[in-house]
Amino acid sequence: MDSLPDFNPSNASNSLSININTTTSSSNTVPAASPSSATSSTLSRYENQKRRDWNTFGQYLRNHRPPLSLARCSGAHVLEFLRYLDQFGKTKVHTQLCPFFGHPNPPAPCPCPLRQAWGSLDALIGRLRAAFEEHGGKPEANPFGARAVRLYLREVRDSQAKARGISYEKKKRKRPPQSSSTTSALPVQAILPPTPPSAPPGAS
Ligand SMILES: [Zn+2]
Repeated sequence: MDSLPDFNPSNASNSLSININTTTSSSNTVPAASPSSATSSTLSRYENQKRRDWNTFGQYLRNHRPPLSLARCSGAHVLEFLRYLDQFGKTKVHTQLCPFFGHPNPPAPCPCPLRQAWGSLDALIGRLRAAFEEHGGKPEANPFGARAVRLYLREVRDSQAKARGISYEKKKRKRPPQSSSTTSALPVQAILPPTPPSAPPGAS
């Protein structure tokens, strides 16, 4: 993952304890879909993060003016929340006027704003969506699953992809089964399952 240098879990510079870090920073941090290697530690991290996100959102609702209850929370409020989070973002998103617009690795600093990276927003919404239903919310009333939220996320993804010169196309399905010419470094290692905890004794 070269493209998203901005999640730093230990970087607790924000006051609200919003800690939107996704170690893999892809859209698929929901563990249900990945039975493969992500094991219990990943899962509990996910659960912890989900709880924190849920608390953060609850705090946001409590501080909301005018007061806002979860039951009356709509997709529009979720968007409001996402925009609010941008002030804690650490991802430089170039404006169209910036000479580095579209450069994944700008050679110099620029005054463009910092935002929440699309990957973290996307993962955050996934966790909040799950948390909402775990707390008794009805799926059809889930504000985090609202169409407006999906559209907003797509828009953020596309505009950040342009601004940062980064493609968010799924990177992990690369490795076609046979790429004849490039038999590069260590193809075997990448295919092996990640953790054989201990070799079976006396295995030749
Ligand atoms: Zn810039």
